[in-house]
Amino acid sequence: MKTYDIVIAGAGSIGVPLAWQLGARGFKVAVIDQEASWGRGQNRAAIGGLRATHSDAAKIRICLESLKIVSTMKEDHGFDIEWHRGGYLYVAYDEATKGSFHNLLKLQKEAGLDIDWVSPDVIERLSPGIRTEGLLGGTYSPGDGFASPLMAGTAYHRLAMDAGVEFFFNTRIDALNMEGDILASISAGGETWSAPLFINAAGAEAADLASLAGLDIPVHPDCHEAGVTEPVQRFMEPMVVDIRPDSESGNYYFYQAGTGQVIFCITPRPQIWGRDKGSTSSFLPLCVKRMLELYPRLRNLRVRRTWRGMYPMTPDGLPIVGYPEKAKNFLQAIGMCGQGFMMGPGLGKILAESIASGGSYLRPAGSTGYGFVFDELACERGFDHIELLK
Ligand SMILES: Cc1cc2nc3c(=O)[nH]c(=O)nc-3n(C[C@H](O)[C@H](O)[C@H](O)COP(=O)(O)OP(=O)(O)OC[C@H]3O[C@@H](n4cnc5c(N)ncnc54)[C@H](O)[C@@H]3O)c2cc1C
Repeated sequence: MKTYDIVIAGAGSIGVPLAWQLGARGFKVAVIDQEASWGRGQNRAAIGGLRATHSDAAKIRICLESLKIVSTMKEDHGFDIEWHRGGYLYVAYDEATKGSFHNLLKLQKEAGLDIDWVSPDVIERLSPGIRTEGLLGGTYSPGDGFASPLMAGTAYHRLAMDAGVEFFFNTRIDALNMEGDILASISAGGETWSAPLFINAAGAEAADLASLAGLDIPVHPDCHEAGVTEPVQRFMEPMVVDIRPDSESGNYYFYQAGTGQVIFCITPRPQIWGRDKGSTSSFLPLCVKRMLELYPRLRNLRVRRTWRGMYPMTPDGLPIVGYPEKAKNFLQAIGMCGQGFMMGPGLGKILAESIASGGSYLRPAGSTGYGFVFDELACERGFDHIELLK
């Protein structure tokens, strides 16, 4: 039996930065993952977008924390994670979209986000070549940006190792051993880990893992594809997001990495549920249509590679963070949807502070100012009581 203060299931976008933050606060932490190394789940599928621009105040605050950590990673810790502060640009080509962006601005500013409405002239300056016909303006948040999920994961892993965290790879958790409403230990491949606190950070497989403790949690794998072009001379700064749906897709977004490649992603309509990681032939035609409509000058760019991964999706698009009544010491940090990479470092810091300062890890006191509150939805989701991060 191996004994730790905290055992984390999953070495991904959430588990690794959380392990670093806990290790740095003096906890003896173990992280268990079925893959051969960190970040081999959905972390590596992320395209690297890191924004605090959200429509939910809690997500804004979490991601503002993430941005602080990521943007100072080089000067504070010496790791180049290809962070580029290019900002996020949400473009509006119709009055309805313009109106919804304007409505959001108040909430976003109140939550501390540096964001404003910009005119078509400014948009053209930030993204030369973007279609200006019909362009009404957009919101621009200059503090957002992008980084490499692979480099960032490696940096968090190194920092966690330096903080004394122990990683167990090639280890698939196959049993959660309950004693009443307490998770006593985790078993994997004939070995057992015990701790007073366990954390579920198993991403798209979080519901499967939680079911081993008798929990029924609504996190479902939702397939998304992404692609990368050949590198070209720098021509645009922000991540451009076009939320106008068409019959086959929802949001379309892309940016030019610091290394010159254009990296792009689209939300398929309807959603594609499942775990199939094979790239499809329908993805590129979908993107090309949207890309050329928005940015005609990119018509000669050659695509180098596409890939597919899964969002760990929840019914309302909000993450599930809290302690279920039926497994009181099994903190859920799951359901990150399409935002786990951007939420990982901030959420890791907030949760580590909460665990370290709350005294009782069963009910984080909200001492960080972020607060854990009861949510009626949690009951509908089959929990007796779970606290969601707001
Ligand atoms: C195409 C695409 C683009 C995306 N772009 C972005 C983006 O730009 N920005 C952003 O913020 N997010 C993005 N995302 C979403 C992001 O990738 C996820 O939200 C995030 O990776 C989820 O983090 P996680 O830690 O919950 O899961 P993961 O990173 O998948 O980590 C979970 C880990 O748990 C392990 N695990 C699961 N079950 C077990 C078990 N039984 N035993 C042992 N180990 C187990 C897995 O092996 C995995 O390593 C994108 C996703 C896709 C698919």
